[in-house]
Amino acid sequence: MNWKERDESYVWHPFTQAQTEPTPLHIVQAKDAILTASDGKCYVDCNSSWWVNVHGHANEHIAKAIQDQFEQVDHIIFAGATHDKGIELAERIAKLLPDSLQKVFFSDNGSTAIEVALKMCIQYWHNKGAVRKKILALEGGYHGDTFGAMSVGERDYFNRPFEPFFFEVDYLPFPTKENGKEIAAIAKEKLETNTYVALIVEPIIQGSAGMRTYPIEFLELITRSAQQIETPVIFDEVMTAWGRTGTYFAFEHTNVIPDIICLSKGLTGGVLPLGLTVTTQTIFNAFLSPELAKAFLHGHSFTGNPLACAAACASLDIFEKATTWEAIQRISKENEAFAVRISNHPKVQEVSVIGTILALEINVDDPGYFSNFKREAYTWFLNNGLLMRPLGNVIFINPPYCLTEDQQAYIFEKIEAFLA
Ligand SMILES: *Cc1c(COP(=O)(O)O)cnc(C)c1O
Repeated sequence: MNWKERDESYVWHPFTQAQTEPTPLHIVQAKDAILTASDGKCYVDCNSSWWVNVHGHANEHIAKAIQDQFEQVDHIIFAGATHDKGIELAERIAKLLPDSLQKVFFSDNGSTAIEVALKMCIQYWHNKGAVRKKILALEGGYHGDTFGAMSVGERDYFNRPFEPFFFEVDYLPFPTKENGKEIAAIAKEKLETNTYVALIVEPIIQGSAGMRTYPIEFLELITRSAQQIETPVIFDEVMTAWGRTGTYFAFEHTNVIPDIICLSKGLTGGVLPLGLTVTTQTIFNAFLSPELAKAFLHGHSFTGNPLACAAACASLDIFEKATTWEAIQRISKENEAFAVRISNHPKVQEVSVIGTILALEINVDDPGYFSNFKREAYTWFLNNGLLMRPLGNVIFINPPYCLTEDQQAYIFEKIEAFLA
């Protein structure tokens, strides 16, 4: 059997309707921003391989760090044992974040980083002897595909079969410039009932909802309202961290600091799975007790995997270089210039740029066409050498920072051709 037949016979792909989906790309090489398929075709990795790959593929510094770590400690249990790369990563992350965020819990991906954050908040109240059963979230959110993460995300056809099993969540309407203050006032009222375990949001921009930004003041208002009455605030920075929005973390655009921050995706440079849930000494202290049952009894076989920690530390080295931030700025500036150029295009309903993310909401007046838009756009861009997966009628790029000026110009040229 060839690769296609073997793939069809044995592989169950994620987010894929196997009956109708076309043949997947068969990628045989990934280097920098370019993916090469077995038929010889090359693609620019416009969405960083599902938003994770920040420094480009086959980065030599990360490769060496993984190899060196493998020869020292490949993997060990993380309960009752520790290792230098885990310690180094936790210390470096705590030093990058504001002083209040000190305690680093390790897991395996974005969903589990969220799951851990929710479980921490639930047990925080339990350990304090309080009864709190609801979570406050924002409409349109996406926090991952495990049960807790699904429960606090948007309720739509993606997770309908599971809805009866979700826990109770109240949703705030997605704010606009006009109604932000009003919704923040509703949030304050809700929070002051002191019945919420936590408030969870993707700060500044919702990724899966179509790279949708919302007013910073709104985020500041609801965060303060929760923190004033000591309800923990979770910022899901799984998508927004690591320079995506132009700063290390999205919360740096605001005047507020969450009580818990969740990190994953670009954390390891996007080459190995790893999630971190970073929280305050106050939350950590609520688990200290002579009783074992008050401890956070949660863990994964691969908690603190040393290879993933080594990749993450190597990625942090790369972020310490000025050239990385120059690249982020250059990509951001080019995005802004293109946004201005394209904003009046009749097919473009809205353009938004935040750092390296450029998103175009496309006018699709025929609703029948809408359902096909995603696949048609995806296929069109593939035929033009771009791997770019739209979200509904939103096409967007969030490329690796090694993207060259020529590659970015090529992406823009092709977007214009597509619109035409
Ligand atoms: C991708 C994503 C997650 C889930 O991360 P996985 O590693 O896919 O489990 C959670 N939150 C946000 C904002 C994400 O973009």
